[in-house]
Amino acid sequence: MKLKHLLLFVLSLVLFTSCTSKTPYTNRNQLILLSQTQELSLGEQSYKETLAQSKVITQTKEANKIKEIGTRIAKVAKRPDFNWEFTLVQNDEKNAFCLPGGKVVVYTGILSVAKNDDQLATVISHEIAHALARHGAERMSTSMIAQGVQTAGNIVLGSQGSQYTQTFNIAFGLGSQYGVLMPYGRMQENEADEIGIYLMKEAGYNLNEAIKFWENMSNGKSEGIEFFSTHPNSDTRIENIKALIKKLQNT
Ligand SMILES: [Zn+2]
Repeated sequence: MKLKHLLLFVLSLVLFTSCTSKTPYTNRNQLILLSQTQELSLGEQSYKETLAQSKVITQTKEANKIKEIGTRIAKVAKRPDFNWEFTLVQNDEKNAFCLPGGKVVVYTGILSVAKNDDQLATVISHEIAHALARHGAERMSTSMIAQGVQTAGNIVLGSQGSQYTQTFNIAFGLGSQYGVLMPYGRMQENEADEIGIYLMKEAGYNLNEAIKFWENMSNGKSEGIEFFSTHPNSDTRIENIKALIKKLQNT
């Protein structure tokens, strides 16, 4: 092996080992090309931009409720490095998301589907789970790999800049100018459901309401609920959640 090849090999090995990450609870190996610091700063930036473009609701009963439930779930999420915020935004779409660093945004549209605290906890836990498992960063890494190792290398070496904002926004499903969130993969959706249920359990919410929440969402499917274009496959997901809850209740 030539020295150059050897160096390249060692470098890629270092790159690979420094970029592997494990999901909490589910312990799945991930390849993530962003550091936590880069991820958090992109999250902060994107959150500010999102709020600047949104009608933020404060001081109402609903806004306070979102904060209260979010804070209760955040307490069991074990991420003291996150600077949690829970914001209600006027938007008729039935959707919510959580950016890296714990920036949770809930659309008012979801309030008509999440009928009580436990159901609101279901959607908030699910979105927090995506952030804990770094699904956006994982997706961003995949798209960076697709764009070429050189770009990925730049990110790893820390030359993060505005040119990555677009990749970030796409990866994290922030097409806020369209008000439409991009879908996560099915595997990431299942994982967020699973981690979300663990969070709900630890925070002391009623797990059976999770099933009711997803059923409510499913019933609204014919009305063209946006959430379902981003969170597909409702029958299977409800069955999976039911099975997990049954397992947890028997242990
Ligand atoms: Zn999701």
